[in-house]
Amino acid sequence: MKYIEEFRDSSQVRRILDAIEALGFTEDVNLMEICGTHTHSISKYGIRGVMPSGVRLLSGPGCPVCVTTEEEIDAIVKFARENRDVVIATFGDMIKVPGSVGSLEGVRAEGADVRVVYSPLDALKIAIKETEKEVVFCAVGFETTAPAVGATVLKAIEQGVDNFSILSLHRLTPPAMRALMESSDVRIDGFICPGHVTTIIGSVAYRFLAEQYRTPCVVAGFEPLDALLGIYMLLKQIKEGRADIEVEYSRVVTADGNPKAKRILERLFKVVDADWRGFGLVPMSGLKLKEEFYLYDAEKRFYIRRVEPEDGSPECRCGDVLRGLITPEECPLFNTICTPESPRGPCMVSTEGTCAAYYRYERR
Ligand code: SF4
Repeated sequence: MKYIEEFRDSSQVRRILDAIEALGFTEDVNLMEICGTHTHSISKYGIRGVMPSGVRLLSGPGCPVCVTTEEEIDAIVKFARENRDVVIATFGDMIKVPGSVGSLEGVRAEGADVRVVYSPLDALKIAIKETEKEVVFCAVGFETTAPAVGATVLKAIEQGVDNFSILSLHRLTPPAMRALMESSDVRIDGFICPGHVTTIIGSVAYRFLAEQYRTPCVVAGFEPLDALLGIYMLLKQIKEGRADIEVEYSRVVTADGNPKAKRILERLFKVVDADWRGFGLVPMSGLKLKEEFYLYDAEKRFYIRRVEPEDGSPECRCGDVLRGLITPEECPLFNTICTPESPRGPCMVSTEGTCAAYYRYERR
């Protein structure tokens, strides 16, 4: 199959559903996706509802804005509040995320200079145009976003732009998957691995899951047939007692990923331990700029430090949602106090968030 329409062909969908049914699963199986786009595809196309009984599709930490911690949100909000002459440039999802001391949207209403951009390059353009201002790009994202941010820093260096810096809150996906396997909270029988992330890191990045944890992995695309085929391939592995790394999304994903993007990551960033919402500290799961790029590192340039959150929204159970421990509907605030218009946590704010997906497509 080559064209998008083919991945939405209902007769093919029926064929795969029949093949899934024919595997004859009666036992409980938990499959987890680690990508917000998968979460939304699964919700949007009603895939959860057509699974055989016992096959549960869990959503994991696949939304970068959602895994950003309250401490980090608070630090940015406080910084923006106290430095109104600094431009804070960020993606749209970030500005609504509530911390315990407010949101970027809130401080913008108070007078802080918070701007929504569509790429790190847009933030650099602001710095080039408004040379009298410092511009901090709030860099949130996984392995997919980090190369573009790194390339933008290189461009800033090349063009001698000295009023531009980034706050690197990037996270790496495989360490979070390891953390999930090490946790005794939730049993995961197979991973639907993220399509976009894997275009960068390559499918070999998941080998440890098969070798150390005997957990099957399938890298899947985002159309309904992609997701269903990925699920079928995972269930087949489980049925046959195999734990392999397979690629359904082979029209885009290779074993080794994108060498150019990987070179940029290696050149610019060092891998560090990082806190994830709901997980706590995950070893070697974050990216910070290397020392030699300290001038472009907003944390160093402005001494931005994390602070203990104030009360915040303790009832929000995003942390449990992100680990697949509960579905959004099990959070007492879902669709009562917490809605996309009045979100209590990032999983409802972000377009990639699990609570937003359930609210939009699976709300009963
Ligand atoms: S429904 Fe709202 S409050 Fe509950 S976990 Fe999701 S984002 Fe948090």
